[in-house]
Amino acid sequence: MNNAVNIEWGKLGFSYIKTDYRYISRWKDGSWDNGKLIEDNNLTISEGSTCLHYGQQCFEGLKAYCTKEGKIQLFRPDQNAKRMIQSCRRIFMPEVPKEKFIDACVQVVKANEAWVPPYGTGATLYLRPFVIGVGDNIGVSPAREYIFSVFCIPVGPYFKGGMSPIDFSVSEYDRAAPKGTGAAKVGGNYAASLYPHEKAREEGFADCVYLDPSTHTKIEEVGAANFFGITKDNKFVTPISDSILPSITKYSLLHVAKEYLGLEVEERDVYIDNLDEFAEAGACGTAAVISPIGSITYKGKKHIFHSLTEVGPITRKLYETLVGIQIGDIKAPSGWILEVK
Ligand SMILES: *Cc1c(COP(=O)(O)O)cnc(C)c1O
Repeated sequence: MNNAVNIEWGKLGFSYIKTDYRYISRWKDGSWDNGKLIEDNNLTISEGSTCLHYGQQCFEGLKAYCTKEGKIQLFRPDQNAKRMIQSCRRIFMPEVPKEKFIDACVQVVKANEAWVPPYGTGATLYLRPFVIGVGDNIGVSPAREYIFSVFCIPVGPYFKGGMSPIDFSVSEYDRAAPKGTGAAKVGGNYAASLYPHEKAREEGFADCVYLDPSTHTKIEEVGAANFFGITKDNKFVTPISDSILPSITKYSLLHVAKEYLGLEVEERDVYIDNLDEFAEAGACGTAAVISPIGSITYKGKKHIFHSLTEVGPITRKLYETLVGIQIGDIKAPSGWILEVK
């Protein structure tokens, strides 16, 4: 029996909580085993595991939501499955087939049903799938054994007192190289971002903006989220680059902007010297859906978007529509929702 009933859902943050079950599957001699649910949250792996030395690993992040009717649903898990296949290819690991990925997520949600936050709390169940290279290795070469696992934790509403704009600075560091691993969801990109993140925090910013690694003139990522801006003539604009991690939230917002709000949308270069073209801006990803950007400080100059304290009207509309779709209040485009039964 778990103690999930004792949780104050609205007060949850984004912290590790041991839920009851996790899924684990092992790859050896060219194939994945059937996988199973286990209770132990500790992994025992060889000291020679490639994930420990050569960063041979990747991960995903997605959420399960509870609807008003009490149904539990996953938001676009096929997109996470697809992206994990791309990440596995780039880091030279065996792919987790889409069906296996989705089945693992469904099994984990079902087994931890008591941990799914109820509708209306703003809390959700966050799923963390990952693949790691394991086994006895030492040379720089791909592992001969792998683990694919999925665990879950209940997470609170990202903005406790409602959505509010946050401030960013532009980092002098890069999180990825031009033809590197920026488009793969791999731990190495995050390792590279910890120090710049801490520096931005010390200077009073929430996080930093990364520019394109080859020319340092265009916006790529905002912390561990994608960027979008709303131009003064109401276009939804988001940067395009091979070293941006393709955010599922971003592409979902792009669709919502076009099909639900009737905005023009553009995926194109966004120059850091041309922020004046935007009336509003935001950072987007699964964790917060949208973090409105109050300001970006570049070379000592603070550029303020809509307001430092108020959320812009289009940003709010985008947020409300996408969250409405995720929790089942608004009709989703076909194929976006997978009910867990
Ligand atoms: C995961 C991630 C995002 C957001 O992707 P979503 O699919 O929207 O959650 C953005 N940038 C980076 C670097 C990421 O790792």
